[in-house]
Amino acid sequence: MRLLGILGGMSWTSTVEYYRLLNHGVSQRLGGLHSANLLLRSVDFAPLAAMQHEGDWAGTVAVLVEAARALERAGAEGLLLATNTMHKVAGELEAAGGIPLLHIADATAARVRADGRRVVGLLATAFTMEQDFYVGRLRSNGLEVLVPDADDRADVHRIIYDELCLDVVRADSRQRYREVIARLAQRGAEGIILGCTEVGLLVGANDSPVPVYDTTAIHAAQALDWMLAT
Ligand code: GLU
Repeated sequence: MRLLGILGGMSWTSTVEYYRLLNHGVSQRLGGLHSANLLLRSVDFAPLAAMQHEGDWAGTVAVLVEAARALERAGAEGLLLATNTMHKVAGELEAAGGIPLLHIADATAARVRADGRRVVGLLATAFTMEQDFYVGRLRSNGLEVLVPDADDRADVHRIIYDELCLDVVRADSRQRYREVIARLAQRGAEGIILGCTEVGLLVGANDSPVPVYDTTAIHAAQALDWMLAT
């Protein structure tokens, strides 16, 4: 099994899910007591979140490159960045290190296309919904991407940072997400990308009239294939 390096803690509530999914996956594929061969470097999210909101992306690169190098020095053969938003600096991380990065948007787009779908709605942080690094990557993978309107985007973003990253899951927030999803489906979305690794903690298939694509689960499945590739 290849040794996976996870750059996590962004936030820790979703990193827990990655760890669980990878261990379940290895046990299912190899049987019994087999479990995931991995390293986890989990960062303190508060300073990084502050830098995101100040637009100090160079500051986030400095922190994440250092953390990625620590994983590499410890023997990681591949890197999983356990957040969609920080894929804004995926190129810098890849350039700074010598190991491949398993890109969350590529894995997600491939899954959507494999299902024969093309038009997707995107639920994510404001950075991911409003900047080109993610939406552009999905488009270059052949998808048409619909994002919620400004009020809906603001609520989706707030619920991620003020609740889900703090391990708070509220019924009224789930209802709010359902409304946003329903509007995206009405506008023609054939599937909904849960493009933030915490969003699967709040909503799932039962909250949407069209299929949902949970980036945490898809990214973990991609990592599992990579770990067990011969
Ligand atoms: N985990 C989230 C994501 O997938 C948001 C927190 C972060 O900015 O890393 O985008």
